[in-house]
Amino acid sequence: MSATPQGYRGRFAPSPTGPLHFGSLVSALASWLDARAHGGVWLVRVEDIDGPRTVPGAVEDILATLAAFGFHADEPPEWQSRRIDLYRAALDRLVASGHVYPCGCTRKEIADSQLRAHQRNTTLIYPGTCRDGLHGKPARAWRLCVPDEESAHEPGDEPVSVHANPALIRFDDRWQGPQHQNLATEVGDFVLLRADGQWAYQLAVVVDDADQRITHVVRGADLLDSTARQIWLQQCLGVPTPAYLHVPVVTNAEGEKLSKQTGAQALDASRPLEALMAAARHLGLDLHDPAPATLAAFQFDAIDAWQRRLAQLPAA
Ligand code: GLU
Repeated sequence: MSATPQGYRGRFAPSPTGPLHFGSLVSALASWLDARAHGGVWLVRVEDIDGPRTVPGAVEDILATLAAFGFHADEPPEWQSRRIDLYRAALDRLVASGHVYPCGCTRKEIADSQLRAHQRNTTLIYPGTCRDGLHGKPARAWRLCVPDEESAHEPGDEPVSVHANPALIRFDDRWQGPQHQNLATEVGDFVLLRADGQWAYQLAVVVDDADQRITHVVRGADLLDSTARQIWLQQCLGVPTPAYLHVPVVTNAEGEKLSKQTGAQALDASRPLEALMAAARHLGLDLHDPAPATLAAFQFDAIDAWQRRLAQLPAA
């Protein structure tokens, strides 16, 4: 295993946009099992940074559901909405180091000037229009510069090898294996402070993972696509990059990721064992006991099965 047991710090970071569903349970279980299997610390961070998407009462509901499923954080939960000063300080540092710039472009202007991003998503790749100034427009958002693809070589040089391309972020995902993303061609300069005044997820998550000294991030594979951005932001801020493990997402019968938008059912906190067993099956855990009588019996078995599961992964 990659970290010393004493040093391991993991977290589960739900967004309170509704009650926990089976997909969130899979992420919670995986992050909890990985922390316990390493003898590490497991934290809960409430990602309520996106004010308009936060549903009243969802935080209390999520924390109560986690407790009913036997997940108890080793330190009091953190709330992103109470950590705004940290995000402001990080942005100030990035302004001072020249990594960010104000942007006055509207979505429509970016769409008109740009090609749609690759098949992966419908995010627009920002063409860098405001890198050299606002062109008389008012500042709307703050963006982080990503490396230029060509910046590693001068015209006339040998073609730059892919290993030397500063825009290409590589990392080894502990579940999914080697990953790479070209920030220049697949992402573009991305927003850290949005035009509506909300802090972007990418900034908040990087600042919090660093501030909470998270060594291992375990979460759903829907966030695999954000990881290169987060690694680049860590490099700009000079903070460590944690180890990443992205578990397969849970999909519904239509193949859509379970979420509030796709009609995912809330977990039934009165029958945790049934859902936990199903979550363990989703993770491919080979449990010894097919019908554990208690949460403690399930947990004991599942920690052992998680260790065996990790050993089978291609990335192990
Ligand atoms: N808050 C994010 C979500 O619920 C998770 C962020 C993370 O684990 O990095 O999808």
